[in-house]
Amino acid sequence: MSEMRVERVDAPEGVFVLVVGTGREGLGGIAKAVERALRMLAQEVERKTGDEKKDEQAGPNCADCGRTIEPWTTGDGRHYSAEELANRRAARYGRPLCAFCVARTKKEEGG
Ligand SMILES: [Zn+2]
Repeated sequence: MSEMRVERVDAPEGVFVLVVGTGREGLGGIAKAVERALRMLAQEVERKTGDEKKDEQAGPNCADCGRTIEPWTTGDGRHYSAEELANRRAARYGRPLCAFCVARTKKEEGG
């Protein structure tokens, strides 16, 4: 028994899922193919929803003041992404901090 082909096609209007068969797959084969097509569309919806969520929260936020942590390039040209900075500061200070709060915390620590 041959399987129906399920194909994802990107179009300006959205995503199409093509189900291609020879007509010899039988109702069971069609049901299986439709199930696969639906799963594909569901994944697409999940991915899209994830993307939109990512757009909402541009970067990691400071644990102290809530400011967005900005990427930073050092004087000698080393570039740190916001995520990298958040991780490094979390390791150093126990929580992700923005540049302002790092300066403040350093002062408080006396260094
Ligand atoms: Zn802060």
